[in-house]
Amino acid sequence: MVPALEAIERLREGNRRFVDNISNGKTLASAGRPMALSKAQSPFAIILGCSDSRVPAEIVFDQGLGDLFVIRVAGNIVAPSQVASIEFAASRFGTRLVVVLGHSECGAVLATIEELQRPIAQQSRNLAAIVDRIRPSVEELLRTDMAKDLAVLTHHAVRSNVGVSVDHLRHGSQLLEQAIARDGLLVVGAEYSLETGIVDFFDGVPAA
Ligand SMILES: [Zn+2]
Repeated sequence: MVPALEAIERLREGNRRFVDNISNGKTLASAGRPMALSKAQSPFAIILGCSDSRVPAEIVFDQGLGDLFVIRVAGNIVAPSQVASIEFAASRFGTRLVVVLGHSECGAVLATIEELQRPIAQQSRNLAAIVDRIRPSVEELLRTDMAKDLAVLTHHAVRSNVGVSVDHLRHGSQLLEQAIARDGLLVVGAEYSLETGIVDFFDGVPAA
């Protein structure tokens, strides 16, 4: 079992390798050995990320097979199936770190901003299930001066939306609450920059 803070450090190191590699044109992560993992897994971190094709967790953290338990959904929202997936990994594998990984220019957040500014009557009910979960983060910001500047609004909405998911995971599951209280499970929020490739852990990381 890898303690939460050590897991964060591994992810930070991996992200530094990733950023270094893309700037040097080197090849990325070793995939690991599939055969060695055929009977068991012990991922050291659980990542709830966005489905965006530009933010695959294994690549941006330069990790191989068996390292990360990844859940991806547009807008890195938390619905019951995401909570259940995280409960499963935390209890089955003893994984101690959960990272909600949002990213700059998130299409799901932008779609929510658009929807709030110009509601579309014919929106798919399924899409609405995602937008409705992001909506509270955006609505609050729309009442501030940020509403005047789409770039600023989007930046803050992305982080606020990560915060809502983090909060939901910390308080929306008895199993996870117990793991936090008893077993040192840590739920943190981070943002990946599409421009720089850098992941900023901005929510819930205890100071060293
Ligand atoms: Zn996204």
